[in-house]
Amino acid sequence: MAEYLKKIKRVLVDRAVEHTPLARRVRQRLSHLPWQVVDKQQDIAPSTDSNQVLYLKEYKGKFLRFCPGTRYYRCCGYRIIHIGENCPLNCTYCILRAYFQDKTLKVWANQNDLWNELDQAFGPNPDHLFRVGTGEFTDSLVLEPITGYSRDLVQFLAAYPNVCLELKTKIVDLSWVESVKRTDRVLPAWSLNSPDVYKKEEIESAPLEERLKAARECARLGFRVCLHFDPIIHYPGWEKGYTQIIEMIFDYLEPENIAYFSLGSFRCMPDLFKIIARESPHSTFIYNEFITGLDGKQRLLLPLRLKQFLFIARKLKQKGLNKQLYFCMESDQVWKKVMGYTPGELGGLNNHLLKLAFGVLV
Ligand code: SF4
Repeated sequence: MAEYLKKIKRVLVDRAVEHTPLARRVRQRLSHLPWQVVDKQQDIAPSTDSNQVLYLKEYKGKFLRFCPGTRYYRCCGYRIIHIGENCPLNCTYCILRAYFQDKTLKVWANQNDLWNELDQAFGPNPDHLFRVGTGEFTDSLVLEPITGYSRDLVQFLAAYPNVCLELKTKIVDLSWVESVKRTDRVLPAWSLNSPDVYKKEEIESAPLEERLKAARECARLGFRVCLHFDPIIHYPGWEKGYTQIIEMIFDYLEPENIAYFSLGSFRCMPDLFKIIARESPHSTFIYNEFITGLDGKQRLLLPLRLKQFLFIARKLKQKGLNKQLYFCMESDQVWKKVMGYTPGELGGLNNHLLKLAFGVLV
């Protein structure tokens, strides 16, 4: 079992979902841990970094959501399938540290409610294409060895060819692969970063080489993969670091293996700075030049952002990527300066990424 999973010390389960297939599976896989059935919120003991609680919950909210983009920047129109909250990998820059005040790993175990909601959304609209993913409020695969959630999800979505599912992760787990019926409707995705950022800020994730080996294996099996540089961090020597990871990527993959590739500069609500300063004093990148963006988030000064984007995009284009590149939450001004066109000129970012996801455009 991976080290980060060993930090889980207890499992809580809402009584309403105690006998669901997912809860039974978790109970079997974590049979060595204490198991407690919860009747009310007060029964929930707080989680810490080293003493984590896994909470299998009856979720009452909406499972299918829009990605929380803002109207000020170009959003990609991604839909989130919400399967749980929090992540045990503890990347220093993780926005979830500010989103969620507690460390409890929550998994929505009332999967029948999820299947019903997804069927109502996707079933009546077979001509409407959906690009969906689970990696927004957690890592898509980080709990997969325990829950098998993505395996269930790809099996369920096999009946909806109008849906393309992205599984975004920083770990390696391919246990769900054998359940996939159509490799053109699932996009395994890895977030990557420079080796310096990996060593300093995301040390509990899988080594970069392991992620790339897994991506190559997926390509061999017939999938196209997605890659993400998000967050791009500005630090002394970043040019060398991002050059290294770009070289590594193309040691393992061909450009045509990559459905799309996002670039996103580090940005966050101001609260995260305080958390990083307090809990990760070695993370000095927060002392860079940040401004408050139109969405209230802190982001790197535009000239610094542009310099990084121009450098990285040029290198990726030299390796053969072109229209697969996109920005997460940037302005038309940045698009025009770096890519030479705006999302509007592509027919809108949402449409463009749908075409890339469904393999209509390469
Ligand atoms: S892998 Fe993603 S979700 Fe998990 S801690 Fe890192 S940034 Fe956060």
